[in-house]
Amino acid sequence: MGRLRRLDGPLCRRCGRSWEGPEACCPRCRSGLSPVDLVRAVFPYRTPLPPLLYAFKYGGRLWVGKALADWMAGAFRLFDELGGADALVPVPLHPARQRQRGFNQARFLAEAVSRASGLPVLDALSRLRNTRAQSRLSRRERAGRLKGVFAPASKADVRGLDLVLIDDVCTSGATLSACATALRSGGASSIRGFALARG
Ligand SMILES: [Zn+2]
Repeated sequence: MGRLRRLDGPLCRRCGRSWEGPEACCPRCRSGLSPVDLVRAVFPYRTPLPPLLYAFKYGGRLWVGKALADWMAGAFRLFDELGGADALVPVPLHPARQRQRGFNQARFLAEAVSRASGLPVLDALSRLRNTRAQSRLSRRERAGRLKGVFAPASKADVRGLDLVLIDDVCTSGATLSACATALRSGGASSIRGFALARG
């Protein structure tokens, strides 16, 4: 198993993916507007992270999750671009999936970031449909599948808030985009993303 190393540059200033070029942003970010203002992540999504995350999410190894969450919480304040937010919003699981797993890994991570930063965790999103793992789909197909999956939670008021979405892994960015679209429809003022790992 390789060593766990921090994700480091050169990265796209916006989506946080590896990007080496004369421009500050990667071609994808320059070609279209995203509802997510920027994304930052702690680790690249490669060995040894995937098996650790698997042990946490599917194997119920919460001590592994605790170590990952502590790293994420410690890294949060190192990103100036994530400063000044009003609240942290975990990407929700569908209630059926959460019952099966016993916890939502994104909320588990958000709670650690909250303890370290003092920012509140706001359960501002509902997941209306359960979606299957979609790693084999193209970015466009993923975005299509996620249409209407997230909605603003009825009990949370996000009007005028600067929010940071929290998730375990960000690959295509389709999940964060779908969440951000829902939060913007609820009146949120800005949405940034913070993930444990970037694919
Ligand atoms: Zn980019």
